[in-house]
Amino acid sequence: MASTKYVFVTGGVASSLGKGIISASLAKLLQARGFSVTIQKLDPYINIDPGTLNPYEHGECYVTEDGAETDLDLGHYERYLNVPTSQKNNVTTGRIYQEVILRERRGDYLGATVQVIPHITDEIKRCIKLLGNENNYDFVITEIGGTVGDIESLPYIEAVRQMRWEIGTDCLVIHLTLVPYLAAAAELKTKPTQHSVKALLEQGVQPDIIVCRTEKHLNENLRNKIALFCNVNPTSVIESIDADSIYDVPLLMLDERLDLEVLEKTRMPLGHTPELSKWEEFLFRLKHPEKQVVIGLVGKYVELKDAYKSINESFVHAGASNKCKVVVKALHSESINSETVAETMKGLDGILVAPGFGSRGIEGKIEAIRYARENKIPFLGICLGMQCAVIEFGRNVLGLKDAHSTEMAPETTNPVIDLMEDQKTVCKKGGTMRLGAFPCTIGKNTLAFAVYGREDISERHRHRYEFNNKYLKQFEDAGMMASGINTKDNLVEIVELKNHPWFVGIQFHPEYKSTVANPHPLFVNFVKAAIGYSQK
Ligand code: GLN
Repeated sequence: MASTKYVFVTGGVASSLGKGIISASLAKLLQARGFSVTIQKLDPYINIDPGTLNPYEHGECYVTEDGAETDLDLGHYERYLNVPTSQKNNVTTGRIYQEVILRERRGDYLGATVQVIPHITDEIKRCIKLLGNENNYDFVITEIGGTVGDIESLPYIEAVRQMRWEIGTDCLVIHLTLVPYLAAAAELKTKPTQHSVKALLEQGVQPDIIVCRTEKHLNENLRNKIALFCNVNPTSVIESIDADSIYDVPLLMLDERLDLEVLEKTRMPLGHTPELSKWEEFLFRLKHPEKQVVIGLVGKYVELKDAYKSINESFVHAGASNKCKVVVKALHSESINSETVAETMKGLDGILVAPGFGSRGIEGKIEAIRYARENKIPFLGICLGMQCAVIEFGRNVLGLKDAHSTEMAPETTNPVIDLMEDQKTVCKKGGTMRLGAFPCTIGKNTLAFAVYGREDISERHRHRYEFNNKYLKQFEDAGMMASGINTKDNLVEIVELKNHPWFVGIQFHPEYKSTVANPHPLFVNFVKAAIGYSQK
């Protein structure tokens, strides 16, 4: 068995060039050639994980099967590869330092001065190799967050330098950079790339492959120029042109032979020709929709592109599966009230109320749900969205006027949503929610059963509050059924309405499990219901 190959992806010139998508695309191509691959993200911030960061800072927090709160790039990795990631796939500077400081306190360093080199860099290398060693992957692709030149990412680049020295051709560095187009000069410019590679060289790392993010095609002259200035072969200068969809990128990288460059340089066999027929079929369906629906996404962060990333991608998968273009219309929950709701919801074929925390915008979410319930518009409520559906039903159907969640109204006399028992003793905020995959049992003769086609499911969670079982009978008698239950802890995981064509609230997050190969059944079915509604 050949040793694991470590591929590093660094970024230069600017952030947001799409290191995550390039990493995931390369991984997809290698996987399609028959190699086992995993992807890891190293984040240079001091937070232990992004769980305590708000979406303005960090976009969506993605949750893995084993309950790690991680960077949203891990969502891309799973959506592309259809293989679950874990805590080990996301490492932050905070986590690295925490581990080193813990060891120092235990006395493990035997009186040595603890330093960035070698102690921090050793811990970084340990986290990188851990993935390769434990699972015997052919490739571990490690994406280094931030941009070369940032103070924060110095120890990571140093760890790459050391690894390259230690393992030679088992290690490869891809540098993603920007080649801007200057309209006034009508020219693509290579200087920022030259500078960024120089910055990397100053830190002792020569990239093997340079991926150039660009709006216009790179011609041969330009490729040669970058190759000459940056010490790489012209074939190692890869164009990454702006694409219509992030799902086009693996095929664009295939055309550019990125996978072959990587295999050659790491002295690996080529494997079989990439098996991408399913991927291509997905793209074909995505690009040739036969119908269209408009789904309202109600949340308080809708103006942020990345705040509901996994939900948006789940709609892309579900749309392709239904050969339907899903237009997701962002609706700010704070601007919805009883006067604006009808106008805001006009033309929608489905309404999704998003997950969230805290009371901002909560009444708008509840109002949107009332509208969906009363007008029989397909509705999906995720986590806080499900909790709001319970509150709405409590208030407007059961007549419990002050029905609320104790998260927003600790003093309410009708706490229909309440803190989970084992959360009551929790004082620290980081990493202490009910996190990761838990089983759920679905009742037969329910919409949920029709959607999943089975009784036993497992879904990922991220919450502290839950349906208050004291109210369960009252709710069920009035028509809101608990159709999915976690039997071990007796938690309501799915609610649905009897007298409504498609109204589902879920305490878990199906969006974390939707992939290109496996679109999530709840989203697929929700879109189907929206198509049905639109045709009425
Ligand atoms: N704030 C709610 C809770 O903690 C919902 C969380 C969420 O939507 N992820 O239970």
